[in-house]
Amino acid sequence: MKIGVIGTGYVGMVTAVGLADLGHNVIGTDKVTKKIEKASKGIVPIYEPGLGDLLKKNLKNGNLSFSPDLEETIRSSDVLFVCVNTPQRKDGSADMSFVEGVSRCIAENLNGYKLIVEKSTVPVRTSSWIKRTISLYKNKEYSFDVASNPEFLREGSALSDFLNPDRIVIGVESEKARNILLKIYKKYKEKIHITNIDTAELIKHASNSFLAMKISFINLISDLCEKTDADVEFVAKGMGLDSRIGKQFLKAGLGYGGSCFPKDVRALVKIGEDLGIGMKLLKEVDRINLARIDMFINKIKEALWILKNKKLAVLGLSFKPRTDDIRNAPSLNIIERLLEEESQLILYDPEAIENTKTYFPEKTKGIHYAESALEALTNANAALFITEWEEFKKLDLYKAKQLMSNPIIIDGRNIFEPDKVRKLGFEYYSVGRK
Ligand code: NAD
Repeated sequence: MKIGVIGTGYVGMVTAVGLADLGHNVIGTDKVTKKIEKASKGIVPIYEPGLGDLLKKNLKNGNLSFSPDLEETIRSSDVLFVCVNTPQRKDGSADMSFVEGVSRCIAENLNGYKLIVEKSTVPVRTSSWIKRTISLYKNKEYSFDVASNPEFLREGSALSDFLNPDRIVIGVESEKARNILLKIYKKYKEKIHITNIDTAELIKHASNSFLAMKISFINLISDLCEKTDADVEFVAKGMGLDSRIGKQFLKAGLGYGGSCFPKDVRALVKIGEDLGIGMKLLKEVDRINLARIDMFINKIKEALWILKNKKLAVLGLSFKPRTDDIRNAPSLNIIERLLEEESQLILYDPEAIENTKTYFPEKTKGIHYAESALEALTNANAALFITEWEEFKKLDLYKAKQLMSNPIIIDGRNIFEPDKVRKLGFEYYSVGRK
């Protein structure tokens, strides 16, 4: 059985490497030939801990190969994992044009039975559209099945999430498709949750929206804490100790970002509204999240009054630690707002500087890039912590204070202990606590 992986971005690359490591014969393809050229040489086009070693291992043992030719990949594969992007459209809905394009190409290259597996996050009922598209455009009478196998990996720990999953959701409607996927995921027999296709598709959107809701919930509570003597870190801990609630995703801060939560919440709102269901709950989740940027800008103003010409060290650009991904990162909105105020920004991130330079080129007025956190802090009027990288938690704050013009920290992720930082002589602002 040969597996083709279509789209080798964050999800596709991990899927291709992960499936090859399970012992399958895998070929990955992407329309961006540069990604394929790099991957073929064992270079991971993204930053993802551990992925490079496993990529090289599976290229070497022959389980994995890459090709820029989508049509050939389709013809030579029995199972196709579709991992293309499903970005947000202006109205909030998911842009399904990449999935549709791939479906047409599959139809035109059908040369025997194939199982088409949706790995991309797609709106419920997408499989019906894929089936219709393939039936409309196929030129030969071969049979095929569509299945859903949503991906739950987290960037930054994507490989271990793929190799040690909490669950594997499989949505199928034929015995054949079910058996093929059970064979592929044989190693994880105990963790497989089999449903119909609509259910599997909805599990993904519902899971991401629920996690986003937890984050917005604790941020709402954080606002309440700021108006009282409560401390959001202790509130979150006290809530999380209840096994019905759980401690994960109860971290107050600058809210969620990335290529999934913001678009997936909006896509589910649109799906629900199109079906005549009131989706105010999730709209509020989105509104609370967007308001985190105002909250942070207000804190900076509270500390510095006028932001024009203030030198600000912006520490952390990726949407979360351990990734170079800046898609929908809170940092981007914060930087834009500070540029409107004519601040001077010195940006630093352990991994995401190159990606950020495509968004804010080096010649952008008011933008400077630093090669270390301490360099960014030199002569700064304040330090803004935006992503909770380990490196920042270990920062030599004593040295930082000596380098800064004003010892002011505005911590959007509650990285530091307020008492400790204040003892060092910093003026310290954080989220949801005094
Ligand atoms: P991505 O943009 O990193 O990767 C998508 C890839 O598909 C790109 O490399 C693009 O060039 C390629 N592509 C698009 N059209 C193609 C075509 N016709 N032929 C060949 N290649 C094509 O996106 P991603 O982050 O990997 O996400 C992919 C899907 O998985 C999305 O639906 C996303 O919502 C979902 N998802 C993402 C994550 C995550 O953490 N990134 C986690 C779970 C699910």
